[in-house]
Amino acid sequence: MGSRGACIFKHQAYINGKWLNALSGKKFPVSNPANGLKIGEVPDMNKEDTLHAIAAAKESFKEWQNVPAKERSKYLRKWFELIDKSSEDIAKLMTAENGKPLIEAKAEVAYGAGYIEWFAEEAKRIYGEVAPRPSNTREMVFFREPIGVVGLITPWNFPMAMLTRKAAAALAAGCTCVARPAEDTPLTALALAALAEEAGLPKGVFNVVTSSAHHAAEIGKALCESEDVAGISFTGSTAVGKILYQQCAGTVKRLALELGGNAPFMVFDSADIEKAVEGVMASKFRNSGQTCVASNRILVQETVFDEFVKALSKRIEKMLVVGDGLDCGVNQGPLANEKQLVKVESLVKDAVNKGAKVVIGGKQHKLGGLFYEPTVLTNIDEQMECFNEEIFGPVCLCIRFKTEADAIEMANNTRRGLAGYFFSNDYQQIWRVARKLQTGIVGVNEGIISSVEAPFGGIKESGFGREGSHHGIDEYTHVKYVTFGGL
Ligand code: ADP
Repeated sequence: MGSRGACIFKHQAYINGKWLNALSGKKFPVSNPANGLKIGEVPDMNKEDTLHAIAAAKESFKEWQNVPAKERSKYLRKWFELIDKSSEDIAKLMTAENGKPLIEAKAEVAYGAGYIEWFAEEAKRIYGEVAPRPSNTREMVFFREPIGVVGLITPWNFPMAMLTRKAAAALAAGCTCVARPAEDTPLTALALAALAEEAGLPKGVFNVVTSSAHHAAEIGKALCESEDVAGISFTGSTAVGKILYQQCAGTVKRLALELGGNAPFMVFDSADIEKAVEGVMASKFRNSGQTCVASNRILVQETVFDEFVKALSKRIEKMLVVGDGLDCGVNQGPLANEKQLVKVESLVKDAVNKGAKVVIGGKQHKLGGLFYEPTVLTNIDEQMECFNEEIFGPVCLCIRFKTEADAIEMANNTRRGLAGYFFSNDYQQIWRVARKLQTGIVGVNEGIISSVEAPFGGIKESGFGREGSHHGIDEYTHVKYVTFGGL
């Protein structure tokens, strides 16, 4: 670690402005997925610690909600600047605990910090409204107020950005938060807390509760069922999202769910094939395919199918270098954990057993451990598990279609609806298809869609709520209508 390393590499949780161990004294190890070596140990907290953090956030909300927007903005700006200065060290820590190549970790730090910068600016623009009055004796005003304490539950695939796009919006709106990062990647979240402390954020405003997988459900339940928590924002699997949805019913809590996707990526015959291949490379192989917007099903018009599969396979073999994310030139890290490897292996096996053809890859990489070969499969049909499930690994499923209508039907034949992509140079087709895709996000001739300026979120069982853009603030505010009579 560089000069700032000592100060951002934390081994305790951060509650009420203090660095704490679990009340039980328990800890759990964090390891590097590239080599299995232990990097550190952090507190294995449980319900009791979570209730303590909720109480701290509740207390700090009393003041934070009344801190003028301009000042909240300054705190966020300072936090952003400190992250920016420490970006190299945060990126190294992220690669060590998550496995993603350093170049991607650096990009995530810039992207994740971008949300703090963005919401520092949005904090000053949370406007209310004055409505046209219904009679001359009344006026009507709508305020936007922070909802209160929010629980933020985040996954391991983007250890920083998934947290900052929630926390920065919440803090900008005047909410306080209790964050519970994934067990695989708590160190990045603690690094953010260290810099929040350095930025002078008042105690209790931003709390980070760490735990192993063993206590994840208990902590989630405590956050969902607490009457002192006004809202939950979760990014993770659809299965866990559904549990949280149910658990929030008892207290009628606000909820934002960013769940799994099953992104179609369509290549129409008018497309520039090389550009479409580039689009797949960008959308599929970032984080070794472990993103919820990764293209899951690549649908290619039959007239260009063979040409496309050949070009894609060639590009993969030429461009992708698998290895330890800290090694120079590596652009494909290991899968993040054992569960991921088992899942990818089993989806590929199921497809092959049902008739899929392996064009390249199809097995664990020769490096062993959690490394998997970049893979291209053809002869895919809708009965295969991989057609319906998010693969979350470096596996491309190439599927033929005949007509535009067939492609749209296949693309929408899923309960998920996060991202969708297509490549076409037919102007009318572009508008038609963009409107018909049942997803919250559409990339047209573009494989990279996430951006702080844009609303990120899904439809169907991919969830609801939007993160980023000015819409990101909506999840953390309610509208209060005040009418003034007798005028
Ligand atoms: P993945 O399969 O990608 O790990 P999960 O939905 O299991 O996705 O995990 C996302 C986050 O949710 C992680 O921080 C995980 O620890 C947490 N989590 C898992 N189960 C629960 C639960 N029952 N309640 C709350 N959080 C949970």
